[in-house]
Amino acid sequence: MGPTPDAVIIGAGPNGLAAAITLARAGRSVTVYEAASTPGGGCRSAELIEPGFVHDICAAVHALGVSSPFFRDTPLDQYGLRWCHPEVPLAHPLDEGRAGVATHPIDGTLDALGTDAARYRRVVGPLVRRFDALTDSVLAPVLRIPRHPVVLARFGIPALLDAAHLAKWFGELGGPLFAGCAAHSILPLERPLTSSFGLMLLSSAHAVGWPFAQGGSQAIIDAMVAYLRSLGGEVVCDHPVRSLTDLAPSSVVLADVSPSVLGSIAADRLPPSFMTQAARFRHGPGVFKIDYTLDGPVPWTNDACRRAGTVHVGGSVAEIAASERTMWRGGHSDRPFVLVAQPTIADPSRAPAGKHTLWTYCHVPANSTVDMTDAIELQLERFAPGFRDLVRGRHTMDAPAYERYNQNYIGGDIAGGAHNGRQLLARGTSIRPYRTGAPSILLCSASTPPGAGVHGMCGVQAAKVALRTTLR
Ligand SMILES: Cc1cc2nc3c(=O)[nH]c(=O)nc-3n(C[C@H](O)[C@H](O)[C@H](O)COP(=O)(O)OP(=O)(O)OC[C@H]3O[C@@H](n4cnc5c(N)ncnc54)[C@H](O)[C@@H]3O)c2cc1C
Repeated sequence: MGPTPDAVIIGAGPNGLAAAITLARAGRSVTVYEAASTPGGGCRSAELIEPGFVHDICAAVHALGVSSPFFRDTPLDQYGLRWCHPEVPLAHPLDEGRAGVATHPIDGTLDALGTDAARYRRVVGPLVRRFDALTDSVLAPVLRIPRHPVVLARFGIPALLDAAHLAKWFGELGGPLFAGCAAHSILPLERPLTSSFGLMLLSSAHAVGWPFAQGGSQAIIDAMVAYLRSLGGEVVCDHPVRSLTDLAPSSVVLADVSPSVLGSIAADRLPPSFMTQAARFRHGPGVFKIDYTLDGPVPWTNDACRRAGTVHVGGSVAEIAASERTMWRGGHSDRPFVLVAQPTIADPSRAPAGKHTLWTYCHVPANSTVDMTDAIELQLERFAPGFRDLVRGRHTMDAPAYERYNQNYIGGDIAGGAHNGRQLLARGTSIRPYRTGAPSILLCSASTPPGAGVHGMCGVQAAKVALRTTLR
């Protein structure tokens, strides 16, 4: 190990690296230790199936990447990061060839919604217009005095509702479009606050788009690592941390891991209150993912789906709600809600000329080993007949495979913790997020506010706590 740094970080995921960059920018020396052989956590890419085809193993779509205060303020373009915007951010196919479409800017969506456009504009329009202020407010710890109370109120009042109800407000095309976004909560759509996911994601599609990183999501991480190194920070891979003795001595440790993982690493230094809260921390359901190599683009019946970077495949609001309810109760839907991304329509560099990749997953109960390939492909064939004829190769990962891939994904939970109840409003293990009760040990992962996604803000907020306290 090298000279003693001011701070060490466990885990080179987006939040660990964002924490390291925030500390290095403030003039502190920092070393990041990563268990895997490459940095990136939930933001890695690889040739999973055949040479020349690059797949995003986890995150693929980066609305938060382009809009979060951290990414807006970090010069990653100077380190090679380029965003590739599809013509249409999001489409949601329905039977008979129809589809809900989220356009960037919003006008295309309003034109397509017809008589439902006025209601949609009334709820979503103000959020789109003040989207920067909305992200500043939403991607911050919730338990603080808001900087933009009016925007937050515009968001917060409908966001409190359950998505199954609010979807009715948006009509035949807008309802499913909204419900698909709300289903990113990985909760039954009848739960209060599920609308917050739908509103945030839809307004991001209209305001900033849902881009891919050119060459794969790994490019985001490569740019973060290069920028961190330019600031003097270090990243050490192939270095699993099992105990604090595996780390260089430092003034503060920031952990880009789940609360229980931190508990196992630092049990002798953490107070009993943290250990109790870590044991109470609830993880969410898992996922089943299929990556594909394809001989051509997906033959969607609806034309907008052919031009969309992301396609939500799940049919009507009632069908999506039923699928998510079944999963939450421990079952597996025959007609699962499938999240689909088509990176190669916006970024042809990821596949040989004329060929494509496809990224798909559905929610399953925690630890599920059920193979959802048939169910996912029946859903794809329903809206894109002939899809299976184009498949060259498949790579599947079930919930336990995700936990083996990254020990943060407990039971296959890709969100760093369930979004129900208290954990949506006050994520983390205490009313003072990021803190553990041991002054020199902080949590900075997606298990802290503002939660899952490649936005870096958990890392930024934890680093700010360190700079205000131990590293002052
Ligand atoms: C299938 C899937 C699809 C997703 N899609 C999207 C999407 O499209 N858009 C989006 O914004 N988000 C998406 N996400 C979520 C996103 O990937 C995560 O929320 C995000 O990566 C969390 O970042 P993090 O830094 O908190 O943790 P992680 O990304 O989990 O990084 C933590 C790092 O810590 C390392 N680590 C863990 N334990 C140790 C240890 N003991 N010692 C050393 N290192 C350790 C891990 O190896 C890992 O590299 C998706 C996730 C998955 C799995």
